[in-house]
Amino acid sequence: MAVPKRRTSKARRDQRRAHDKLVIKGLTRCPDCGEMKRSHRVCKNCGSYKGETVVENG
Ligand SMILES: [Zn+2]
Repeated sequence: MAVPKRRTSKARRDQRRAHDKLVIKGLTRCPDCGEMKRSHRVCKNCGSYKGETVVENG
């Protein structure tokens, strides 16, 4: 079995992991409240969709 000859340095390891960041697709800022929301979904914070208040909270 192949065995690494040298220990991977912290710099090399971290460079490799630089691409591992999680990106949530379809996440946009709400035009009404500025909070992050999923596109094509009613805003969780203010309950608006397409400029209209669809869900009233509280
Ligand atoms: Zn909102």
